[in-house]
Parts: sequence; structure tokens; C-alpha cells
Amino acid sequence: MTLTEFGLIDRFFSRCGARRPDTVLGVGDDAALLRVPPGMDLVATLDTLVEGVHFLPGASPEALGHKALAVSLSDIAAMGADPAWATLALTLPAPDPDWLEGFGAGFCALCRAHGVELVGGDTTRGPRALSVELKGLVPTGAALRRSGARPGDRVCVTGTLGDAGLGLLALRDGLAVGDRDGLRRRLERPEARVGAGRGLRGLANAAIDVSDGLLADLGHLLEASAVGAVVWLDRLPLSAAVRRHVQETGDWWAPLAAGDDYELCFTLPQGRRGELEALGGSLGCPLTPVGEITREPGLRVLRPDGGEYRPSRRGYEHFGPDA
Ligand SMILES: [Mg+2]
Repeated sequence: MTLTEFGLIDRFFSRCGARRPDTVLGVGDDAALLRVPPGMDLVATLDTLVEGVHFLPGASPEALGHKALAVSLSDIAAMGADPAWATLALTLPAPDPDWLEGFGAGFCALCRAHGVELVGGDTTRGPRALSVELKGLVPTGAALRRSGARPGDRVCVTGTLGDAGLGLLALRDGLAVGDRDGLRRRLERPEARVGAGRGLRGLANAAIDVSDGLLADLGHLLEASAVGAVVWLDRLPLSAAVRRHVQETGDWWAPLAAGDDYELCFTLPQGRRGELEALGGSLGCPLTPVGEITREPGLRVLRPDGGEYRPSRRGYEHFGPDA
């Protein structure tokens, strides 16, 4: 891009987000200089959103700015860390000032809300893609990992599952659903569970964020921990709209496999239920036990009658993200 175009982009991202005392040098030099306080570990994550793959062409730039950061915040939350610094790489077909203004507004507002400072970035011309690298801080040794689950742990999730997936079906395929606006909000403006991740430090044995669907992400956690799990279908926390959809279709794709919810899935050691309830109350966010870690490997989903639920192939073909 030309110098003028770079200047244009700078305009929307100068002084973006919080001002942090541990930023020695932010935007404007060859690289940022960041001070990790003694006794803290640095946590780093990178996510890319590509137009047509991760978001629909024509998506609101303000919502995209929000989501580009939210998906990385969710990974930081899943580590039990506090977000601190972001860098942003934008690939754009052209530097459209309206689009940039909207994107910058959504991105920088969410940065401010979480005490994150934008400390650098890069812009290139090409098909629209948004990459955010986010760094966070966690007390040394206290990070939550996927590998800590133990047999007998309760499998728990934050919030509700399936709203973003059902929102995608409503938006992309015109599926008739209840609370279309609420589902659309869950899809386009996810709220990363940063407070929950922080509160789960020293409480949860293992954690992961639900970006690819409960079954897939819990599967990663089980693999890392070398354990198995059962999930109880009737315990899954569902919004009224998702509950109605599941009841009408008998298809559990949205809450089990759709992804994009950015809730946390974590495992709670036996005897810590009281602390979980206290944490849920202080967060104002439901923390729901949905299953149990088993010594036997594999992931089984059980119906209320104790029978195993097996997702129908037809359901996946019809409703799957690749349909
Ligand atoms: Mg993740």
C-alpha cells in the first residue's frame, strides 16, 4: 500500500485500547517493548479470521473488530490468564475508510474493556483477512492447561451452548428460529469468558475454550489429559431458542458441534462444587456441570434414559458448517 494509505490506517489505530504501565514502548518503533512483571508467565496466542471462511462477506466491520479480538481473548481466558497486549495484521483489498473506522471502533472498544493495549501491527493488500496476536499474563505456574483432567472430575461449561451455530443457520440459510437478534449477537459479538478463566485459576484441573464445538474441544482436552468422559445431554445449558430448535428437530448439532460460542469447558475436581457455585454467583454467569471424566478413553454422550446419543449423519450433512 502507498504511504498515504498507511497514514489512513494509522489514523484508526493510534492510541487504540488501554494505556498500560508495563508497556515500555508501544506503536511507533521497529517493535514494541513489553515488561513482564516478576512472578508472571507470558501467554501468547494468534488467531486469523478469513472472509468467506470465518465470516460472511458484508459482515458489519464494527462486529468484526469485536470478534477478531474476542476469539483471542477466549484463548487467553482458557489459559486462566489476564489479557495485556495485542498486535494486529490486516490484509485488505483496499483501505476503505468507512470499513476501517467501523473495524477500529469495535476492536479498540473491546481492547479498552479488557485493559488491552494495541502495541503494533501490519497491513497488506489482498483478500480480506484479520490476524490478532494477543499476549496475556498469569502468575507463574498457575496457567490452566488442557492436560490436567483427572478421572472423577466434573466436566463443566460456562454460559449456554449452540447459540452461535443456530445464529449462523438463521443468517446464512434463513432458518426460522426464535430470538434471531440474540442468536445473531452471540455469533457476531461473542463475549470471551475472561473473568471466568481468571476465577478458575486454582480451581479447575483443566480448561479449553469452545471454539469448534463441545465434542471437538472436549475431545482435545481428553486427549491431552489421556482420559475419557461422558456428557449428559439433558444437562447441557441451552438458551430458550436452542432448546426449542433441538426439541423440534431432535438434532443436537448446534449445542454439541457447531462451535463459535467461545464459552469455556473445564474440569472441576470432586469436592469443589461449593466454590464453583460461589464463582458462578459472583460472575453472574452460569457454570454448569454437564458430564464426568472417566478413566476409560473415549467420549460418550448419554440420553436421559442412559442410552448413547449418536449424531445422525443426515443431521450433520444437512446442518453442518460445510453443507
Ligand atoms: Mg482455543
